[in-house]
Amino acid sequence: MEFSVLAEAYEKLEATRGRLEMMAILSELFKKAKPDEIEKIIYLSQGVVAPPFEGIEVGIGEKFVEEAIALATGYPKKKVEESYRKTGDLGKTAEELLSSKQQMSLFSHPLSVQKVFDNFMKMAKTSGAGSQEMKIKGLVELLNNANPKEVRYITRFPLGRLRLGIGDPTILDALSAYKAGDKSLREELERAYNLCSDLGLVGRTLFSDGIEGIRKFKIKVFNPVRPALAERLPSAEEIIEKLGKCAVERKYDGLRMEVHKQGEKVEIFSRRLERMTQMFPEVVAGIRKQVKAKEAIFEGEALAYNEVAGEYYPFQLTMQRKRKYNVKEKAEEYPLNLFAFDVLYADGEDYTRHPYHERRKRLEKLIAAGSVIKLSEMTITDDPKKLEEFFEDSIERGMEGIVAKDLNAQYNAGARKFAWIKLKRSYKGELADTVDLAIIGYFLGKGMRAKFKFGGLLCAVYDEKADMFKSIAKIGSGFSEEKMKQLEEMLGKIKVDHKLARVESEIKPDFWVDLKYIVAVAADEITRSPTHTAGKEKGESGYALRFPRMMELREDKSPEEATTVKEIIEIYKMQKRIQLEEF
Ligand code: ATP
Repeated sequence: MEFSVLAEAYEKLEATRGRLEMMAILSELFKKAKPDEIEKIIYLSQGVVAPPFEGIEVGIGEKFVEEAIALATGYPKKKVEESYRKTGDLGKTAEELLSSKQQMSLFSHPLSVQKVFDNFMKMAKTSGAGSQEMKIKGLVELLNNANPKEVRYITRFPLGRLRLGIGDPTILDALSAYKAGDKSLREELERAYNLCSDLGLVGRTLFSDGIEGIRKFKIKVFNPVRPALAERLPSAEEIIEKLGKCAVERKYDGLRMEVHKQGEKVEIFSRRLERMTQMFPEVVAGIRKQVKAKEAIFEGEALAYNEVAGEYYPFQLTMQRKRKYNVKEKAEEYPLNLFAFDVLYADGEDYTRHPYHERRKRLEKLIAAGSVIKLSEMTITDDPKKLEEFFEDSIERGMEGIVAKDLNAQYNAGARKFAWIKLKRSYKGELADTVDLAIIGYFLGKGMRAKFKFGGLLCAVYDEKADMFKSIAKIGSGFSEEKMKQLEEMLGKIKVDHKLARVESEIKPDFWVDLKYIVAVAADEITRSPTHTAGKEKGESGYALRFPRMMELREDKSPEEATTVKEIIEIYKMQKRIQLEEF
């Protein structure tokens, strides 16, 4: 496929305001692809050259891209910088400058998708001395052979700023539409995706082996499985009412780890499926020593442990272990224990479809006694009083609460289901638990804050069904001066000139932004609201947060992992019930 076909589709995608239209454009594009191209087309459209868990990034700074534009156009760097100041988008700058370049007619070889992908891949793989020069060369070569529209996207790509706003669900829907003409294959495609976290691989399998290949899709060691998530309920009674006899585990407040092992080779993935293996040498050693299987995939929560005091450190200290430098020193200062709570695969057997009670048995056999990996503490009960006692005891020991688990449920990769239900200290009265919101826009500072180009956030929850981000809060507090400066800089880089197709909001911020950042937000309660679109049905109000305050950036979450509309409605209902009880 010629790259110009992709660039044209990107231009349409950029202009569209609706998700359905987005899906249609993508499925039309897929129809033009050959089986050996689909993977690359999917990656490029996601703005990557490999599935995100591979951590392969083109990694080139703005200054170097400016240099490449100068070299390709023949204009001095000053001119490039000047144009960039006006456009705020190096893609547009490159497009404009190249259009006015006289030798424009010189480009004769049409660029192929393959060539563009290969150059980006080469750029991503060069490292060490002279690597920036190599990257500039790779980019200049593409720019020299591209037409102005192609140039726009070729320039944006290595900066990670494609601005298409395509989410994973849209790609899955588009693959289904390509094959079946509608969304009917979405669920099966999604299952395969949940097992491998690689949309390119899902696309390639569908193209080469059809839907049968997708149905036979198997879990693979070193392809991370998308994590199962927990629902919430406000009390022990309601949990027992929902699950009956269930397993109750402590909810450890640390770092979730998905461990993959094959012989001596070990990988540890984060909740967001980034590789963290290098950060935790003592955990890797523990895995090699204690896991009694040639091949295994299991999950646990890791916590820093204070051996002298015999207790676990708070979350913030465990988080200090997520670092690239001084790994060894920190590992000695704050060694981790890993509490294993689930097994997904062991020696050829996919356990994701087995019920919890069988998985737990397998897990108990999988982990040998030792000092690093322990089994999560668990009890089985159908008595709300016992559950409550276990919960109180967990809180007393500094845990976050408990997670109750349906004994007969399978492992729900990538989904938030009632198979796991969390109970934290207070889902009571005021909204004590924070919610995680996607930033969809921001406001300029006014009054005291006028010196900042930042005054507040417009935030949204995720509507899973519609794959849309719907507004729920305007946040004006919780920002220190330092935070404001940081947000001004971060958000300034991802400004877009219109509302994205997957965003629904009646409130208009000063600037819309790309979907990228998630913030944890505290609030007093959830109220009904005519101005916000979260949970808004025909003729009814939506939901809003009362007195929202920004707590922290959640860099471990991607936009689709924001709190969902469904969860907000559940929390709202819990709140109502508690208010009635207290009354
Ligand atoms: P939270 O901020 O409440 O942890 P979350 O969105 O990160 O929420 P949830 O699905 O709500 O994740 O809660 C499950 C999380 O709890 C898991 O991601 C895991 O990190 C943690 N956890 C701690 N102990 C357990 C356990 N025994 N079983 C399952 N998950 C556990």
